[in-house]
Amino acid sequence: MADPIRDVFSRPLKDIRISVTDQCNFRCSYCMPAEIFGPDFAFLPKEAYLSFDEIHQLVGSMAELGVEKVRLTGGEPLLRKDLHLLIEKLYEIDGIKDIALTTNAMMLPKYAEKLKAAGLQRVNVSMDAIDEDVFKKMNGRSVSTKPVLKGIDAAVNAGLEVKINMVVQKGVNDDQIIPMASYFKERNITLRFIEFMDVGSTNGWKLSSVVTKKEIVSLLNEKFEVYPLEEAYYGEVASRYRYAGTSSEVGVISSVSDSFCSTCTRARISADGRFYTCLFATEGFDLKTFMRNASSLEEVTKEISILWNKRKDRYSDERTEETAKNRKKIEMSYIGG
Ligand code: SAM
Ligand code: SF4
Ligand code: SF4
Repeated sequence: MADPIRDVFSRPLKDIRISVTDQCNFRCSYCMPAEIFGPDFAFLPKEAYLSFDEIHQLVGSMAELGVEKVRLTGGEPLLRKDLHLLIEKLYEIDGIKDIALTTNAMMLPKYAEKLKAAGLQRVNVSMDAIDEDVFKKMNGRSVSTKPVLKGIDAAVNAGLEVKINMVVQKGVNDDQIIPMASYFKERNITLRFIEFMDVGSTNGWKLSSVVTKKEIVSLLNEKFEVYPLEEAYYGEVASRYRYAGTSSEVGVISSVSDSFCSTCTRARISADGRFYTCLFATEGFDLKTFMRNASSLEEVTKEISILWNKRKDRYSDERTEETAKNRKKIEMSYIGG
């Protein structure tokens, strides 16, 4: 039987999420509530960002430690100018097998083809409702579903693999579970429901707002028949299901009701170059300064290895209503999801 305490010491570093900006053109209530992320909010100055060369060097270091997957995120990553140039550089790194992007899709009509040509393989598009009113309310900027659906089409037409992420909140968009599932099932696009998480300290998270994996799967089974699929690889975060009689998949990321810390292989880097070994970390290591002062890239690689090997994070295994309230955590838009 798995021993979660022992397992946390043997998780390899495989997967890195890099935030390229903390700014966003949306104000999703569960991530960047408009009342807090208003005109006076102190976003990072652009001079604080890691340069593309620095990101390239860091990913090179991590590839030497066994990292195979890179996901670019934010804030909204497509707000970072010339992102395709970064992707081109990352694509050349030995050992990197998979480059993905998480986006709200608004700028995909403009950039999808360029991103694909640069070496991007996959995009995850965040979309929390198919109903106009629910969607407009949730994105905090009254944006219609139309440009997002256009962005999804642009990504599909450019040959990118597309998945949709929907954060589910009780009483906010749980009535969208079936309409979203029907819409994307018909188009053979994988939809992944994400349990609402207590990332940061500003989104008013309560355990009672979480719609659990069990509830979601039971709803799916009432309408369609779904059956579980085997884990595709060690550390896969989504529980995957197939709609009976089809090749369409659907998934649930159950970070709250059924956590997966014992196989978590993911590190994160913020736009200003801090290294985090957990989404719920309270502090990050200033890798940017360390790298700028280091005498060689080997020194940076060694430091990352030391930081990773002493990692004991298992926040989601230990989460309670109290830890969610009392622990000072970094914001989702800063650490990048
Ligand atoms: N702006 C891009 C987007 O929305 O796809 C990338 C950044 S966003 C922070 C990355 C992912 O985090 C999105 O899929 C978003 O839905 C998810 N997310 C944000 N806040 C969340 C929360 N409180 N609980 C669960 N997922 C959350
Ligand atoms: Fe922006 Fe993404 Fe956060 Fe929504 S989830 S506010 S699109 S960063
Ligand atoms: Fe990984 Fe931390 Fe999430 Fe657990 S809580 S799965 S250690 S990021």
